[in-house]
Amino acid sequence: MAESDCLFCKIANGDVPASVVRESARTIAFRDINPQAPTHVLVITKDHWFSVGELANGDPDLLAEMLREAVAVAADEGLPGHRIVFNTGSAAGQTVWHVHAHVLGGRGLAWPPG
Ligand code: AMP
Ligand code: ZN
Repeated sequence: MAESDCLFCKIANGDVPASVVRESARTIAFRDINPQAPTHVLVITKDHWFSVGELANGDPDLLAEMLREAVAVAADEGLPGHRIVFNTGSAAGQTVWHVHAHVLGGRGLAWPPG
């Protein structure tokens, strides 16, 4: 189900262009427009889910598919290590209300994050 005013639904539908790097039956992965690391890819569900918690409760198989795809992106990019991030809520920096996993790598990733 697509939400008409949702940017990532539009990317999933092909209505907004994106630099797609992978696609699976129910997910799509594309490069972040404002990368925070040499590799910064977003993995989204094709259907609209609001948050990772809603997805975990509503369709855990789809969450597992997202995570498999996120790890596959890291392998495709040849990353020696990677970080997968779900920002949830505006206090944590979420700006797009369609679930997405950030896959980051290609530079030293500080821990704990700032
Ligand atoms: P978040 O802040 O966790 O909600 O992440 C949203 C991400 O989407 C940010 O890192 C943005 O840079 C990214 N973004 C916004 N618009 C686009 C777009 N049209 N194509 C690719 N990435 C985008
Ligand atoms: Zn959406």
